Amino acid sequence: MKEQTRILKLNKSGVPQAWVTRQEAATMYVKEQVIWSLGSESLWIFGGVNREGLQSSLQLAPIIACSGDVGKQNFEPLLTNRMLFRRDGQRCMYCGMEFDNRQLTRDHIVPRVQGGKDCWTNVVAACERCNHHKGGRTPEQAGMELLAIPFAPNIFEFMYLDNRQIRGDQMEYLKARFSGQRCWLAA
Ligand SMILES: [Zn+2]
Repeated sequence: MKEQTRILKLNKSGVPQAWVTRQEAATMYVKEQVIWSLGSESLWIFGGVNREGLQSSLQLAPIIACSGDVGKQNFEPLLTNRMLFRRDGQRCMYCGMEFDNRQLTRDHIVPRVQGGKDCWTNVVAACERCNHHKGGRTPEQAGMELLAIPFAPNIFEFMYLDNRQIRGDQMEYLKARFSGQRCWLAA
């Protein structure tokens, strides 16, 4: 089933907060929480029919900035395999082959047995074969080469990784704020 286009909700400083559904966005419009918006107002949501037989409708923009709390300043992206594999373009960072989620593993570059941390900058996607071959060694110790330097996604990259149905105007907004480390994030 095709996912419905979601709306990118920002705080008033323009920092993404969440992908919201049209219904959720409509509620924010009705409550007058939307301060400004970006992109063409081309998403529609339809409501009930009134006594005159007219159906209510609301036009929504793909990117909305809402009033309220700006939230935490320091964004700490939650590390999950799903997001990690997406960051690495579903590729094993050792052999470069593409795999689906079931065939990928979370490899700790500096292995945990050697004190390596479980954090974005110490993990990459690896196929079972490469992970097994590497074992409890660092890439240097195993004579293996990493295809890219791992990084912690910023909030804009994280939002990009978190949604597969991104519109062009939403993509443009996020991409302009990527950290520049995204060498292997999809173009
Ligand atoms: Zn591999």
